Amino acid sequence: MQFVDLYHYHNSIKEEIDAVIQEVIQESAFIGSNGNRFIKEFESKFSEFIGVENCIACANGTDAIEIALVAMGIQEGDEVIVPALSWYSTAEAVASIGAVPVFVDVNQEDCNIDTSKIEEHISPKTKAIIPVHLYGRAADMGEIQRIAKAHSLLILEDCAQAHGAKFNGKTVGSIGDAATFSFYPGKNLGAFGDAGAMLFQDKAVAKVARQIRNHGQEEKHTHIRLGRNSRMDGLHAGILSLKLRDIAEQNEKRVEVARMYDRLLNDIVVKPNIKGGMSSVFHLYVIQVENRSGLMAKLKEEGIPSGIHYPAPLPYLAPFNYTKGFTVAKEVCSKVLSLPMHPFLTEQDIQKVANLVNQHHNC
Ligand SMILES: *Cc1c(COP(=O)(O)O)cnc(C)c1O
Repeated sequence: MQFVDLYHYHNSIKEEIDAVIQEVIQESAFIGSNGNRFIKEFESKFSEFIGVENCIACANGTDAIEIALVAMGIQEGDEVIVPALSWYSTAEAVASIGAVPVFVDVNQEDCNIDTSKIEEHISPKTKAIIPVHLYGRAADMGEIQRIAKAHSLLILEDCAQAHGAKFNGKTVGSIGDAATFSFYPGKNLGAFGDAGAMLFQDKAVAKVARQIRNHGQEEKHTHIRLGRNSRMDGLHAGILSLKLRDIAEQNEKRVEVARMYDRLLNDIVVKPNIKGGMSSVFHLYVIQVENRSGLMAKLKEEGIPSGIHYPAPLPYLAPFNYTKGFTVAKEVCSKVLSLPMHPFLTEQDIQKVANLVNQHHNC
């Protein structure tokens, strides 16, 4: 059994993938500068999928956060609110531009930012909030919007794990001022290497981000600001446009897999809690258990891979160097276990995993 199965789907659309690759080769459309038609096509399709007009493809999801923050006007010394639990990039990107990540603890139930604790962390230096839709589950955007409005803060949604997830019927990425996505191969929508995208409500901000992505150029050889090389490759754009066609169906299959897990796992296992309007596209299926290492070892013995997302709260990592606080994130980190999750798991597979998890809990 695989934790993530990329091959199954890619093999099923092999001829179409091969054709796209051939097109890129014939046109030598490798570099994703502004004129590349594969980039333009992907930006336009992804923009339509999320429902935000201004979409800019870039090299990866980490660059996307950094560039978006700079384009939004976040400067050295500004404070940015981030959840204490996420993949490293969320905090790394903030610190990399010289801004200060201000960590807020998460909810035990959905592992997303605890909105009741945001306001106590707001200072005169706070400029933005980065909600992360962790594991594919929408964060509480209603509350986050209310807080952002009350304190004049910008919202940048980190949607790297949540392509197509919804909050109260609105696609995540279309709710805040800006949003970033990763197309790392194992994400719900994945390229054949690193790739990412940014979306902006404001055209002028999007224009700045587009320049930063390509060496600060307004047009060829007109460098009007410092930027970098964070272009998406033409090959990735072509493949992503093709795969975008099937994302809704693949997300539905993930939800079906999650429902089967929900049904087959004992009630004493803490299962992902999807409440209210916060839907999930189940990038990961994460349970919370006692004696996690024992269960992981047992699963491994039976040929079942599992993972930990993540072993430590962000503030406890070396560059941030906290040694106390964030008690919920800390507890969650000691209990979370990600079970195999991808669209091609069978009921048999899921039953096998569930049996082992249930047995572990009975002894
Ligand atoms: C994957 C991920 C990123 C970074 O994306 P890369 O494309 O790997 O740079 C950022 N935030 C979250 C929450 C992620 O899961």
